[in-house]
Amino acid sequence: MKYMNLGIEELHEKLKNKEVTSKELIEESLKLSHEVEDKCNAFVTILDDAKEVEVSDNLLSGIPFGVKDNYSTKGVLSTGSSNTLKDYVPFFDATAYSHLKDAGAIMVNKTAMDEFGMGGTGTTCHTGTVKNPWDNTRLCAGSSAGSAAAVAAGVYPYALGSDTGDSIRKPAAYCGIVGYKPTYGLISRYGLFAFASSLDHCGVLTRSVKDAAIVVDTMKGKDENDMTTWDSSKMHLKEALTGDIKDKKLCYIKELCDIENYENPSDELKKHLENFKEKIELIRKNGVTVEEVSVDRKLLNTIASVYVIISCAEATSNMSNLTGIIFGPRGEGNTWEEQIKDHRTKGFSTLIKRRFVIGSYVLQKENQERYFKNAGRVRRLLVDTWKELYKTYDAVILPVGTGTAKHIDGTLDVLSDSQNLGALEEHLQVGNFGGFPSITIPDGFIDGLPVALNITGNNYDDENVLNIAYAIESMMDYKNQIAKEVK
Ligand code: GLN
Repeated sequence: MKYMNLGIEELHEKLKNKEVTSKELIEESLKLSHEVEDKCNAFVTILDDAKEVEVSDNLLSGIPFGVKDNYSTKGVLSTGSSNTLKDYVPFFDATAYSHLKDAGAIMVNKTAMDEFGMGGTGTTCHTGTVKNPWDNTRLCAGSSAGSAAAVAAGVYPYALGSDTGDSIRKPAAYCGIVGYKPTYGLISRYGLFAFASSLDHCGVLTRSVKDAAIVVDTMKGKDENDMTTWDSSKMHLKEALTGDIKDKKLCYIKELCDIENYENPSDELKKHLENFKEKIELIRKNGVTVEEVSVDRKLLNTIASVYVIISCAEATSNMSNLTGIIFGPRGEGNTWEEQIKDHRTKGFSTLIKRRFVIGSYVLQKENQERYFKNAGRVRRLLVDTWKELYKTYDAVILPVGTGTAKHIDGTLDVLSDSQNLGALEEHLQVGNFGGFPSITIPDGFIDGLPVALNITGNNYDDENVLNIAYAIESMMDYKNQIAKEVK
C-alpha cells in the first residue's frame, strides 16, 4: 500500500487509527527516496537510519519529510550543495527544523539545491543536476530543486525550501505542486545558510495549500536568535482556511499578462497566458472580484537588475566566512591567505564566482552609490507600487514564469537572461523585496507539463493569502498531484 502520496491530515488519521505505523511510513519514504535519487538526482543525503517516534496528537508526528541542504541539521551533513562545505556537519539545528523535530516529524533526507541557493535551475548542485520527475529531460528550476522533485514524485507530503528570489515558488510551479514563502520574519532564519539576508525566507513545498498551512504553523515563531522574527502567536494559518473569499478583491498586472506585450511570443507562452486568463474567469465566476491594473513597464523591467545587485552584494558579504579555516576542507598553501584562496577557488562553482565579482564591484566604495544604493531605492519604488495595490486589493495574482519546465540543455542562469520575458520570469522577486507572503499553486498543463499561478499579498496577511489560495485551489483540479512521467 502506498501512503506517501497522501496529505498530512490523512496520514495522521491513519497513524492514529493504527492502520499504518510511523516505521512503515519511513520505510516507504526511504525506498521512494532511493528510486527518486536514481531517476532525478534529488538528494545530497538519504538518512537510511531515520528512526520512528511515538505518534502524538500533533499532525506532523511520525510523518517523514525532506530538508533542503542549506538548513543546519545537528549531526547530519549540511553542505548547501557546495564543495566548500562538502564535509560540514553542524553541531546545532536550524530553529525552523527544530520546531518540526519537536513536533515529532521525521527527516528522511537532505535535498539537493543550486549551490547555496544561488541559481534558478537546479544545475549547480555539487552532486549534479536535479531532473524533473514529470520529464527527465527537463529541469525542476531552483534553487529548491531536490525538495520540489521529491514532493512531486510522492516521496513525502512536504519538504523544506528557502526562497531569496523565487527558489520555492518556481520549482513548485515546474513540478506541479504548492510552494509557500511566508512574510519575512514569520519563520526564523537561524541556522539557514545565509545567501542574501534581506531577501532570504524559509518556507515549504507541499501538494496542497492546507499542508503548507499545517507545516508553517509549526515552523513559525519568534526566535531570540533571529531578531527579524516577530510574534505570530495569534496567527493560525490552518484555521484561517475557510474557503470563503466572496468579498475578496484580486488584481493582475496587464503589462505582465497580456500577450500583446511580448514580441514574437512562443506557442507555449501564448498557452500559458491564455490558461491564466481562463483561470481568472473561473475565479470571477466563483464570485470573486478580479481586476486588471497597470504598472509602469519601465519599473517592471528593473526587477531583475535590482535583484542581481542586491542579492550578489549581500551574498558576497555573507559568504566571506567560507574560508576553509573554520569549516569545510582546508585549502592547500603555505600561508593562510594561500589556503583561503585555494579553498574558494576550488570550492565554488563558476556561477557563484561570477556573482561574487558582481557583488564586489557594486560594493566598491566608488560604485556603491551608483549601483548598490540605487538598487535599494528602486527596490523601495517596487515595494511601494505593490503596497499601493494592497490598499485596494487583497492580493496580486500572476502567472509563474513563461511556461513549463525548461529543457536541461537550454539552461539559463538568471544573470544571463536578456530576453524581453525578463519581468514575467522575475516578478516573484518583488515578494522578496517587500517580504510579502507569496504562494504558488498549480493551475493547469501545457503538453502534459504543469504550469502555475502565484498569489502575493501584503505583509502579515498570510492567513488571508493562504485562504485565497485555498479557495482558488478548490475551484480547480490540480490538488495533491503526483508527477506522472510524460517522457
Ligand atoms: N533564481 C534566483 C537566483 O538565481 C533565486 C534564488 C533563490 O531564491 N534562492 O538567485
